[in-house]
Amino acid sequence: MDHLLELLADHDDASVLAGGTDLMVEVNLHGRRPGTVIPVGGLEEMREWNHRPRSNSVTIGAALPYSDMERGPLAELLPALAQAARTVGSPQIRAAGTIGGNLGTCSPAGDILPVLAALDATIHVLHRDHSRDIRFADFMTGVKRNCLTPGEVVHSVTVPLTRGWQGYAKVGTRNAMVISTASACLVHDAEEGHVALALGAVAPTIVRAVKAEAWLSRQVDLRGTFRVSPETAHEFGLRAASETSPITDHRSTAEYRRHAVSVLARRLLERSAS
Ligand SMILES: Cc1cc2nc3c(=O)[nH]c(=O)nc-3n(C[C@H](O)[C@H](O)[C@H](O)COP(=O)(O)OP(=O)(O)OC[C@H]3O[C@@H](n4cnc5c(N)ncnc54)[C@H](O)[C@@H]3O)c2cc1C
Repeated sequence: MDHLLELLADHDDASVLAGGTDLMVEVNLHGRRPGTVIPVGGLEEMREWNHRPRSNSVTIGAALPYSDMERGPLAELLPALAQAARTVGSPQIRAAGTIGGNLGTCSPAGDILPVLAALDATIHVLHRDHSRDIRFADFMTGVKRNCLTPGEVVHSVTVPLTRGWQGYAKVGTRNAMVISTASACLVHDAEEGHVALALGAVAPTIVRAVKAEAWLSRQVDLRGTFRVSPETAHEFGLRAASETSPITDHRSTAEYRRHAVSVLARRLLERSAS
């Protein structure tokens, strides 16, 4: 790790290489020419995850591949993360691709990012001369932009564990191997009596539908298990969609994205209610 941080600090032109599933596409198809490429996949401490019962949280190494999140004990602790990981690309992409790479690219369609937004994740960033803990809401600053500065690397991500249902869903132009045209992650915190909803691919950054979240809290007592009427779930979806600012591009129209994300929000809320 020290060697990595020395190399990054000494090479302004350096790019970190994790799974390479974004970086090599940039190199092969989009003319990116990183001067120095520094692989991190071999750094064991960046490929580990740890459950921290005292703080009731999980810390996930930036270079942990999606295939390690899809099932097993980590998937049981964080079902929304597992669901999102299962939707990424193909088995080959999931064996190589990582959270650190999703955060490094910071595409609004990145599947892990709405999960990190809904869980209010903290991103641990290291530099040879300093370290920073950054809330996800402050980390992503625009389309394929983040607040990392030269010499910094994402070391790991910490997410709190909450009691309550959580889930992720996405819409694309086909059922598998597809980049999202709209996505959503909903996390119910049964102790706090709150539902967090994060939306992907419908704005330059991931959107937390804070107005819809607050509206729902006024309509329904969200402590413990709860029920919602079809009308409330429908209204929640519409309100969430109204907080987005989607664009029309080669994948979809703005109108369809807004509609799709309202349906995703409604369905996730209905699934979270018992
Ligand atoms: C065929 C195909 C299908 C895909 N399908 C999906 C999909 O369904 N959903 C989805 O979200 N993505 C998808 N992707 C994109 C990609 O797989 C993901 O974004 C993945 O998370 C990238 O991780 P990686 O480890 O391969 O990153 P890399 O390609 O190694 O790196 C990507 C960027 O992040 C930087 N980086 C990597 N690690 C770190 C770190 N620790 N700290 C700071 N910067 C870092 C790199 O320098 C680079 O700029 C797909 C890609 C392909 C080729």
